[in-house]
Amino acid sequence: MNCYSCESFSLKPVKLDYGLPARECHKCKGVHIDLLSYRSWREDYAGKLETAMKNTTDTKVEQVTATDNKKALICKRCSKFMLKYKVSTEHDNFVDICTSCDDAWLDGGEWQLLKQLQLAGKLTHITTEPWQRNIRAEAVEKTFQQSYQSKLGDVDFNKLQDMCTWIEQHPEKQELLKYMRITFAN
Ligand SMILES: [Zn+2]
Ligand SMILES: [Zn+2]
Repeated sequence: MNCYSCESFSLKPVKLDYGLPARECHKCKGVHIDLLSYRSWREDYAGKLETAMKNTTDTKVEQVTATDNKKALICKRCSKFMLKYKVSTEHDNFVDICTSCDDAWLDGGEWQLLKQLQLAGKLTHITTEPWQRNIRAEAVEKTFQQSYQSKLGDVDFNKLQDMCTWIEQHPEKQELLKYMRITFAN
């Protein structure tokens, strides 16, 4: 089977963390994962990997550079287009999934990125509608905050943020809001 991304190179069987079977392209380092094998691997090892990542002090892990192919990929098994799922709000990386074959394609460095984000055990969660909806909502909130940050400048924006956090966590939150409503009503 050839690489899903660079297409002309054949994939070689490899073992990812804790023996997760995958096929890797030696050129672009992308990996193909059979999600059936992934689910049984996850049962036994995803928790162990998460603990290991939490305890790691390896700085190489911090400097993960994950590439992402922006093109629509075609599944090498069934020739259908694969679906793209965004990994997180902060990262412009997408997991490619063939729902017919139950396969995933990760571009070079994306497995490392998932591990770093504590998402290696959540590969199949990323593809769910609630997960994707949450990412979109976070992106909207980030844009909203950035627009105020540029309007107000960093100093005032940080003051405003501190005040919001203080109100949010205050046991008398509703009373504080009521006071502000009345104070600023006129
Ligand atoms: Zn490749
Ligand atoms: Zn397929």
